Amino acid sequence: MAVQWVLVCHGLVTLLVVVSFLCGQWPIFQGTFIERIHFFLTSGAYDYFLRFVGAVFGSKCSNAVLSVEYYCCDRPNPILQIFYLGILSMTYYFIVKSSFAYIPGYYLSGIHRYTSLLAVAVGILLFLLTSFSDPGTINSANVSQYLSAYPYDNIIYAEKECSTCKIQKPARSKHCSICDRCVARFDHHCGWMNNCIGERNTRYFMAFLLWHFLLCLYGTVAIGLVLAGRLKELRVVYILTVYYGIENSFLGLAPHVAQWLLGSYNTLILIAVFLAIVGMLLAGFFGYHAKLCLTNTTTNETFKWQEYMSWQRKLNEAKASAAALRASISGMSSDRKPLLSKWRAFFQRSPLQDGQIVQNNVYDKGFVHNVVEVIYPLSSRPSFTRPKLKPT
Ligand SMILES: [Zn+2]
Ligand SMILES: [Zn+2]
Repeated sequence: MAVQWVLVCHGLVTLLVVVSFLCGQWPIFQGTFIERIHFFLTSGAYDYFLRFVGAVFGSKCSNAVLSVEYYCCDRPNPILQIFYLGILSMTYYFIVKSSFAYIPGYYLSGIHRYTSLLAVAVGILLFLLTSFSDPGTINSANVSQYLSAYPYDNIIYAEKECSTCKIQKPARSKHCSICDRCVARFDHHCGWMNNCIGERNTRYFMAFLLWHFLLCLYGTVAIGLVLAGRLKELRVVYILTVYYGIENSFLGLAPHVAQWLLGSYNTLILIAVFLAIVGMLLAGFFGYHAKLCLTNTTTNETFKWQEYMSWQRKLNEAKASAAALRASISGMSSDRKPLLSKWRAFFQRSPLQDGQIVQNNVYDKGFVHNVVEVIYPLSSRPSFTRPKLKPT
């Protein structure tokens, strides 16, 4: 039983590390060990490493590490792109090596040898499209079309100039400090793509996420069917039933079947577990971005709205305490009020609850419009690209 326990532990540790690293800062993990692992992986471990390098090799070495960090995290670089291509090709290579001998099998036809390659090729194509497409770079020549496509809402966006590009900043745009350019309908800078995700390539990014989720699902199901086919072809269930003298019941046989599978096809099971974990993470990430697309919000705007809401909340609190202070001063100076008014005041709504804060997203024009806007960006529509005719 040793091999399968190693595999189970491997799966659990991988899941814990990946979930902690990617999702540990989420509110649901607040105060848990997952949050602590996240902080250790994202900053704690690196701080210890820097201190260790400084103490053992001196400040020159720690400065060298800092400049490597600057190149990796603050400058455009293809490290994660190479990493993505490496993971994809290695995973596909191991799948081919360990499963193609059983395709065609009992449940899978020979066509999956070609469709799997096609599916991976489409994935790479979407990756290249997202990585090398223009996210909506704003320059002095096209700024007017972005300004007309995205009017200021005067809530989270007001008329402003980019201090680096020295051009007017259209609403929903942001200056990406890594790429050093202003990008329209800026979502985020994606290290995996080495590109910003903005107005013109959000569609490719969404297609990339969805396709890679489906790719993981396809891989997991296909490996499951290969293994099920092997069980059927080798009559494993029948042999195990006879060997152990167990009745043909699922609960009685399942541990023996699992043991046999783990002993005979551990590489395939390892790949299936890896694909299932990555697939779940991709599904979560796609779901989050799909919700943003449906409500016509960007990742950048979610931070802006959070800032706006907390500022409004503080403003309401200040107003409420000022009103309470005024009331107590006037209460002290005027004659005593009848007891009934105190009771009424007690049951009245708190002034804090009076100022309802609403997130009024003027760019949200309904699900259908919002999705069409992602697929067919506003600034590429003729109504915004044509020069406006001056009234005569
Ligand atoms: Zn700029
Ligand atoms: Zn960028």
